[in-house]
Amino acid sequence: MSTHRQVAVVAVGGNALIKDKQHKSIPDQYAAASETMHHIAEMIAAGWNVVITHGNGPQVGFILRRAELAAHELHTVPLDSCGADTQGAIGYMFQKALHNEFKRRSMGNQAATVVTQVLVDKNDPAFQHPTKPIGSFMDEETAKQRMAQGWHVMEDAGRGWRRVVPSPDPKRIIELDVIRTLVENKFTVVAVGGGGIPVVENENGELEGVEAVIDKDFASALLAISMKVDLFLISTAVEKVALNFGKPNQQWLDKMTIAEAEQYLAEGHFKPGSMKPKIEAILRYLKAVPNGKALITDPEHIPAALRGETGTWIVP
Ligand code: ADP
Ligand code: MG
Repeated sequence: MSTHRQVAVVAVGGNALIKDKQHKSIPDQYAAASETMHHIAEMIAAGWNVVITHGNGPQVGFILRRAELAAHELHTVPLDSCGADTQGAIGYMFQKALHNEFKRRSMGNQAATVVTQVLVDKNDPAFQHPTKPIGSFMDEETAKQRMAQGWHVMEDAGRGWRRVVPSPDPKRIIELDVIRTLVENKFTVVAVGGGGIPVVENENGELEGVEAVIDKDFASALLAISMKVDLFLISTAVEKVALNFGKPNQQWLDKMTIAEAEQYLAEGHFKPGSMKPKIEAILRYLKAVPNGKALITDPEHIPAALRGETGTWIVP
C-alpha cells in the first residue's frame, strides 16, 4: 500500500439515530444519521480511514414490538435476526448519508456495510446471569407466562417487567478480514452494528446465533484492538466526560490517563450501562494498543476534538 492514512474506529451512540422521544420515525433517524455522517465525512476528508460502529437498542425494540403486535398472524423474530435486520437498515442510512456527503464534497469515497457476526463463548458466565433488558414492558401476569416459556424476566425500577438477555463478552469478529480489506482499500466501513450478531460455535464447529446482546462499546473495542487502529473514538451525547456527573460539583475533563480513569471508575464516577462501559472499553483498547489514542465527544465536536480543541482524551 502506498497510502499511510491513519485508521479510526468511530463508535456512534444512540443519539446518532434518535435525538429525542419525539423523533423516532425512519425519516427522523435518517436526519440524525445525516448530521452525524456530516461530521464523520469531515474527518474522512481530513485524511482518516474510518470504520463506523453503532448501537441498535431502540431499533431492535421497535422490531420486537411490531412482532408482538402481529403475533396473531406472523412469526416472531429471533434476536440474532433482529441484529442482522438493524445492521442492514442502519448501515443503509449511514451509506446513503455518506454517499450524499462525499458527493457534496466532490470526494470519490464510497461506504459499505458489513453484516457482522461476533463470536462469544457459550460457557461465558453471562449466560447464567442475564442482565440486559430488551423489548416492551409487561405486566406481572404476562411476565410469568413468558418465564414459563423460558424467558428470563426482571422488574425494572418500578416501571414494569421486562425480558432480560445475557450480555456475553465479545471474543472474535468473524468478518474481521473482510472489514480490514475494505478499510485498507479506503472504503468507509459500517460494521459490528449493535455490538455484532452474537454467535457461538457448536460441537461441530458451526456458527449458531444466540439470544443475547453484546455491549456495543466492548465490541467496538475488540474491533479497534483486532485492527490495531490509531484512534478509538466514542461518539455519544456529551461533549466531554465529567467527574461527579450531574452533580453541583460536576467537573468536565479534557484529558485523563489510564491510571486516573481506573481511579475514577473505582470511585463510581461513570454510570453503569452508559459511561462506564465506554471507559472500560477504552482502557481495554489502550492496554492492548500502546500507541493508540482514545477520545470521547459528541458528533458535532468530532472535527474540533480531533484538532485537540475539545472532547475528553484518554492517554497512556
Ligand atoms: P450511547 O447511546 O452513546 O451508548 P449512553 O446513554 O449509553 O449513550 O451513554 C452516554 C451517556 O452517559 C451520556 O449522554 C451521559 O448522559 C451519561 N453519563 C454517565 N456518566 C457520565 C459521566 N461521568 N460523564 C459524562 N456523561 C456521563
Ligand atoms: Mg450505551
